[in-house]
Amino acid sequence: MDVVLTIAGSDSGGGAGIQADLKTFQELKTFGTSVITALTAQNTCGVQGIYPTTPEFVAQQMTSVFQDFNVKALKTGMLFSTEIIETVARILQQQTAHIIVDPVMIAKGGAALLQDDAVHALNTKLLPLATVLTPNIPEAEVISGVKIRNEQDIFNAAKRILQLGVKCVVMKGGHFEEADTATDTVFFENGSSFSMETKRINTKHTHGTGCTFSSAITAFLGRGFTLHESIVEAKKFVQLAIEHPLNIGHGHGPTNHFA
Ligand code: PLP
Repeated sequence: MDVVLTIAGSDSGGGAGIQADLKTFQELKTFGTSVITALTAQNTCGVQGIYPTTPEFVAQQMTSVFQDFNVKALKTGMLFSTEIIETVARILQQQTAHIIVDPVMIAKGGAALLQDDAVHALNTKLLPLATVLTPNIPEAEVISGVKIRNEQDIFNAAKRILQLGVKCVVMKGGHFEEADTATDTVFFENGSSFSMETKRINTKHTHGTGCTFSSAITAFLGRGFTLHESIVEAKKFVQLAIEHPLNIGHGHGPTNHFA
């Protein structure tokens, strides 16, 4: 059984964060382990509270996992602070596992899941170690410093991000509200790229889609799929999850990992 890891925040509502990651890992036939960076009091209506873990305890959890398991691939999600990012990056420097970075910044309801001053640490400490980065448009803008209004801007932002040392960047197009398709474009360090276009689904039940997508890439990479295959298969998994809403809770319902 291939072991994978998520280093992320807990969502008490079960739709995003660690909970979405572990459900995805399980559905995709991998053994999921977890390092919790922060607790959130959260449901489908929003984030009511955040309680970060200390960097020391993040390190202790990572050591426990790495001492016992051969982790094939891992993802990072909500990392919250400069101190936690620096700790995670320091320990990951000694690892050979594929590293997928989901640069979680702001929840759909507006809660800040990454402190503003932590972007510098993300860019300089963690991204040089990353196999894959999965930003949405607002996250790509913050990381690259490029204001994105059209396809050329997406290309320019991706180029800047690759210069930070990331091997592959998946630019998630779902935040372009006017388009009736949702196109994700994947850029590799060797200059090649490809696009994945899907019909836009009009739904408010998208809580945790980013977490689910990045953990699905992690699971497929952990099982030995190529990078290209892992991204394409993860996209299919997330698309099915969005197409079959669960109707749980009173707000933005969670993606459906059973779909
Ligand atoms: N809460 C946690 C702990 C997360 O890691 C994430 C991931 O992006 C979110 C919330 C965001 O949820 P949403 O998809 O509703 O923006």
